[in-house]
Amino acid sequence: MHPIKPRNGILNITPYKAGDAKIEGVANVIKLASNESPLGPSPAAVDAAKKAADAGLQLYPDPACTALRAAIGEVHGLDPTQIICSGGSEELLHLLAKGYATDGDEIIYCQYGFIAYPITINAVGATPVMVSEDNYTANVDGIIAAVTPRTKLVNLANPNNPTGTYLTKAEVQRLRNGLRDDILLVLDAAYAEYVEQDDYDAGFELVDNGLENTIVTRTFSKIYGLAGARVGWAYGPPSVLDILHRIRGTFNVTVMSQAAATAAVRDRDHVAKAKAHNLKWVPEMSKALEDMGMTVTPSQGNFILAHFPGGPEQAQAADTFLRSKGIIVRPVGNYDLAGALRITIGTDAENDALLSVMKTFFT
Ligand SMILES: *Cc1c(COP(=O)(O)O)cnc(C)c1O
Repeated sequence: MHPIKPRNGILNITPYKAGDAKIEGVANVIKLASNESPLGPSPAAVDAAKKAADAGLQLYPDPACTALRAAIGEVHGLDPTQIICSGGSEELLHLLAKGYATDGDEIIYCQYGFIAYPITINAVGATPVMVSEDNYTANVDGIIAAVTPRTKLVNLANPNNPTGTYLTKAEVQRLRNGLRDDILLVLDAAYAEYVEQDDYDAGFELVDNGLENTIVTRTFSKIYGLAGARVGWAYGPPSVLDILHRIRGTFNVTVMSQAAATAAVRDRDHVAKAKAHNLKWVPEMSKALEDMGMTVTPSQGNFILAHFPGGPEQAQAADTFLRSKGIIVRPVGNYDLAGALRITIGTDAENDALLSVMKTFFT
């Protein structure tokens, strides 16, 4: 037995398992497992990263991400002083738990909520409080009912991964109203750019509610196609950002990543293309799979959760079959969804290939 003990909670963590990227013996895999963008990043972002690297990697990056925050602020109409950048938005989720919770505190998350939440909660020794969902959708009344005097924070992915479901602006407002003012509501809007629903809102207005108790996290990993650059950001109240700035890594976003993200956020054509591609494919892919007998949870993200009529055994068989044809999707048994697979929207050719293999599987 190792004599040195970690802090409370850490041994409760099931380590995060990333989507596979390789299959033994297969040269060209189709990876539809990690919600990466099939369009890749804006060419301007790649160019900016290369130039930043050429300019001298011996120099530390700007610790304040000044140009990037200015660009985000300009594009979204937000005050850059209320924007914080990070090494992926996952870093922010960790910092928020660390900044506000400790042993004995409780943090609420949803049954099929993003799996990073229980990790961040256990990492600080706080108690994860899981709230059941209805129809794979966060339950506002359930969350409110789960609050205790020890509740410090609520994590809500909107839209959520891996379900793709979302809460309307009115529902999120109702959630905020139902929580004590001293509970921090963390709205993880990693997929906000993909959503077309009129009744959806990422939550910036709630941040400005005057109570300084709501923060919205965003990412460059999804629609911007920059998952490899590791850039996230959040819009939050100054008092919350102050806490995060105190505990974040000083130089948490590399020079290449700052340059890439700054160029990416300004390339609105590229974002529009990625969104259009997704809006075309999510319904098409969903319908095609439903025609094969599957049940697809309506998704607002760049992925769909497809449930197999034959349950976990069939889902696993389909996963094995897809792999044998060089296609990697995401098993979600770790979410207690073993009867489903999460499938990321790929390029036209990748989606066609996926559907053709699935068709073979079902016939
Ligand atoms: C992909 C994803 C993120 C983004 O993580 P990064 O660290 O920014 O790459 C955050 N939240 C959810 C729900 C996600 O699916």
